[in-house]
Amino acid sequence: MIKKLFIATLFTFTSSHLIAAAYPTINPVPGGIATIDLGSEFKPSTKVYFQKKRVLIKRDENNAWQALVGLPLKIKPGNHKVTIVKNNGTKSIRTFAVADKDYETRHITIKNKRMVSPTKKDIDRHYKEKPLIVAALKKWSDNNNVQTDFTSPVKGRFSSIFGLKRIYNNQKRIRRHTGLDIAAPQGTSITSPAKGTVIRTGSYFFTGNTVFIDHGQGLITMYCHLNKTDVKAGQQLEQGQKIGTVGMTGRVSGPHLHWVVSLNNTKVDPKLFLNLNDTKK
Ligand SMILES: [Zn+2]
Repeated sequence: MIKKLFIATLFTFTSSHLIAAAYPTINPVPGGIATIDLGSEFKPSTKVYFQKKRVLIKRDENNAWQALVGLPLKIKPGNHKVTIVKNNGTKSIRTFAVADKDYETRHITIKNKRMVSPTKKDIDRHYKEKPLIVAALKKWSDNNNVQTDFTSPVKGRFSSIFGLKRIYNNQKRIRRHTGLDIAAPQGTSITSPAKGTVIRTGSYFFTGNTVFIDHGQGLITMYCHLNKTDVKAGQQLEQGQKIGTVGMTGRVSGPHLHWVVSLNNTKVDPKLFLNLNDTKK
């Protein structure tokens, strides 16, 4: 069964990757993306839900409708379900398989104690800011043409991968890295990876100067630790448009972009949206 699942995964990956180079790359593992072919069941008014969260629907390269499901890092490998709700209220269930993935563990030593164990004041500030961040990542906007082939927001080295298990100063707790870090000098331009609308900008304890972009149907991107922000809430963006510059605001040890991609309010691997041959410069 496990072997079969692996082969099926490999086949899906290779076929979508080589034949049409469609993005995101489908990789149904924790932190990855599953695809459900909606076929004849689909009507424009149909809604698809995974774990009660609405899911993005788009046409694939063959013009067939599919649902793209963001899978949490904590999801258990095995079979999972989406619920398809038609306009008249009829529900149907579709099953899909999630394979396992091993993520690397890294031990990190940080000398600045406040960065590992924030003070009570820091934590109080974080709890005031958290609802704004949660609301931005939860946003749903209807959009029939969501752009999912991204360009890299910064040209630079991936200094910390998505999903990494990080243990700080030998503390017991494992923290997962839920974004992709791209290292670049302070002041390097950050650009929007796709068409979208700025949801909000702000300055937060952990993430520093931050920008949230809504690309439609629950596909949200977040940019952290900016030196300068060049956009405002409500602003429409084109792919490649500058949104700010790389900095080291918030809880960081050096200049880099911490980039988050969220699909159905679930943080997934940003690399799945990139043509990696384009980013090697
Ligand atoms: Zn990061």
